[in-house]
Amino acid sequence: MKALTWQGTNDLSVEQTPDPAIRNEQDAIVKVSQTVTCGSDLHLLGGYIPFMRAGDVLGHEFVGEVVETGPRVERHKAGDRVVVCSFISCGRCWYCKQGLFSLCDNGNTNPGITEHLWGSAPGGCYGYSHALGGFAGSHAEYIRVPFADQGAFPVPDALDDTTALFASDSAPTGWMGADLGGVKPGDVVAVWGCGAVGQMAARAALLLGADRVIAIDPFRRPTGRPTRPRRRGPAG
Ligand SMILES: [Zn+2]
Ligand SMILES: [Zn+2]
Repeated sequence: MKALTWQGTNDLSVEQTPDPAIRNEQDAIVKVSQTVTCGSDLHLLGGYIPFMRAGDVLGHEFVGEVVETGPRVERHKAGDRVVVCSFISCGRCWYCKQGLFSLCDNGNTNPGITEHLWGSAPGGCYGYSHALGGFAGSHAEYIRVPFADQGAFPVPDALDDTTALFASDSAPTGWMGADLGGVKPGDVVAVWGCGAVGQMAARAALLLGADRVIAIDPFRRPTGRPTRPRRRGPAG
């Protein structure tokens, strides 16, 4: 299959990569129909997150169709349309039982890296370096979804893919920002940053009853030329 791969700092290319296969009984394989770039991907692109390897597939927000399931997947079957949570969690460990899914003890297959760096290990995340499990990301034709009963959610027929897509990351992340900010009815709320998460935070603030939301971001007039020369790899 084709996938968008990280080759080095500020160097991405679409390459032919191996098709994913069921590796565990709770895996599903999803044919990706839509996948988006998150602000967090810029940290990988800029080389700020170590533990990327050349050829790693990016992407952690996606929606698609289940094409294959492992023998212990009960809630999904081939043909189902699903939106998948960015973080990989098992649903059964102590952290998952507290609802702290991004701290799952079983989602990250390389916990030693972040335990050493940060003092504790978060769960796994698609396409987000070997520090968060080294899982192939969603900027690809197909993706392996571990613990599919836990992390994949059916998309109701009434919702198109684009509407469901942001439930993967941007919408809940923006909601969490507004929630942590303690937004109350009648508030005037400032949101710094007008990317996908900032826009979702602004909408979440309105849903929580904010009277007015002020979104703040620098405006740069397009210059018509790239800020740094593009390096061309063998794939062009
Ligand atoms: Zn994200
Ligand atoms: Zn867990």
